[in-house]
Amino acid sequence: MIINDSIEELVLNQRRFFKTGGPRDVSFRIEQLNKLRNALIAKEAEVINALRKDLNKSEQESFTTEVGIVYKELSYVIKNIHKWTKPRKVKTAVTHFGSRGEIHPEPYGTVLIIAPWNYPWQLAISPLIGALAAGNTAIIKPSELTPHVAGVISSLIQDTFPTQYVAVVEGGPDTSTRLLKQPVDYIFFTGSTNIGKVVMQAAAKNLIPVTLELGGKSPCIVHKDAPIKLTARRIIFGKFTNAGQTCVAPDYLLVHQSVKEELIKHMKEAISEFYSDSPLSNPDYGRIVSEKHFLRLSNFLSNGSIRHGGKCDASKLLIEPTLLDDITWEMPVMEEEIFGPIFPILTYDHLDEIIDMVNAKPKPLALYLFTKDNDIQNKILSSISFGGGCVNDTLMHLATPHLPFGGVGESGMGAYHGEHSFETFSHKKSVLRQTNKFDFSFRYPGKGGLKLLRKLMKP
Ligand code: NAD
Repeated sequence: MIINDSIEELVLNQRRFFKTGGPRDVSFRIEQLNKLRNALIAKEAEVINALRKDLNKSEQESFTTEVGIVYKELSYVIKNIHKWTKPRKVKTAVTHFGSRGEIHPEPYGTVLIIAPWNYPWQLAISPLIGALAAGNTAIIKPSELTPHVAGVISSLIQDTFPTQYVAVVEGGPDTSTRLLKQPVDYIFFTGSTNIGKVVMQAAAKNLIPVTLELGGKSPCIVHKDAPIKLTARRIIFGKFTNAGQTCVAPDYLLVHQSVKEELIKHMKEAISEFYSDSPLSNPDYGRIVSEKHFLRLSNFLSNGSIRHGGKCDASKLLIEPTLLDDITWEMPVMEEEIFGPIFPILTYDHLDEIIDMVNAKPKPLALYLFTKDNDIQNKILSSISFGGGCVNDTLMHLATPHLPFGGVGESGMGAYHGEHSFETFSHKKSVLRQTNKFDFSFRYPGKGGLKLLRKLMKP
């Protein structure tokens, strides 16, 4: 672990190393990504253990949502890196006859990655893969709220890379603040919208480009024609994975009045099936990350009326998967991102009402829509702006390297995963290679070229 005193020196050393050209070399990148892969495999058991300690994640959940997803991202990137790093030829405008246009992806330099606690492994390592694939050096600041995982990330990086190439700086907001003052070349931040604003302000002082992966209230809409039992299972999976502490979890439910009771019945059944009838004593049910978040969430339990769950165990920071009925938009649970195992239920009669309601709020990170009707699917997709989402599923859009993952408006800016990560961490340098074989004089002043120029550049 890097101690606070040497943060400035660390950044300087990384910048120096970047200038040597080492990290840009494509075979070096591939070699390092393979080293990272071996290190990830070697640490797998330790990571799963640390996730159990920090968040009580089960092995299956840890593997699927943290370890496995990172393996998939890494092998996809290694497979495609040669293709992505090549300069790309583009068309030439008629005014540029004889020349050649190219786009050269080039690394920014030193990248700062600030990670949150809810998927503390995936959300630190996945951006790292993109940053290294694009030829940068990187500094990771893991979340202080998941210290066991932060420790594993720290030792993994220390054992695998020299600090001038990749380093981990552990600590909380003070450490982050200090890192944000450094002359890095790119900042990749995942966390809350409020801290996202702090990060962007700090970056603005040095005009450092940023990606902000933030949160928000993601709606889940269930129309009357949806297959209710299947829908219920997919919603419960998305809502209660990691005890609801997922940035793209369905935050609240908007269900057509006519299918509400049937959906609640099936959601209750799915909760019992996935987490047992007493989730508080289920050893594989996730816990809330901190006492502060536990208290914040328990206050929501007095909103509306409890249709399922509602019990807590303060000593273990556990809250049952809870369905809240009789909810109105004015209640506290509807005012902020819930980020916990509490699911408020609202109903609607006409789709237009909910389009207006959702559009009146900040643009969400995700949206989920359950309906078989193509026209309704297209109507919602074209009338509500959101980061990304699924039709007839939850969460799955983020688990593929083929789709860009990111927010819009208050839920963030920029996107990553797969090739989109490579693009995020690369500057696209435009290059025009001009011919010297001939030279058109009409562009020079005093050569009477205006007539021809008007013809070539007509509106
Ligand atoms: P957070 O914003 O509190 O913290 C994120 C990181 O910022 C941590 O490393 C923390 O140490 C650091 N930080 C905290 N205060 C800071 C400050 N004043 N200045 C600089 N850095 C500071 O977020 P969190 O509680 O760790 O994570 C939960 C939030 O993150 C939720 O809103 C969730 O939706 C969002 N999230 C988004 C995504 C996504 O991919 N879009 C993924 C996971 C979480």
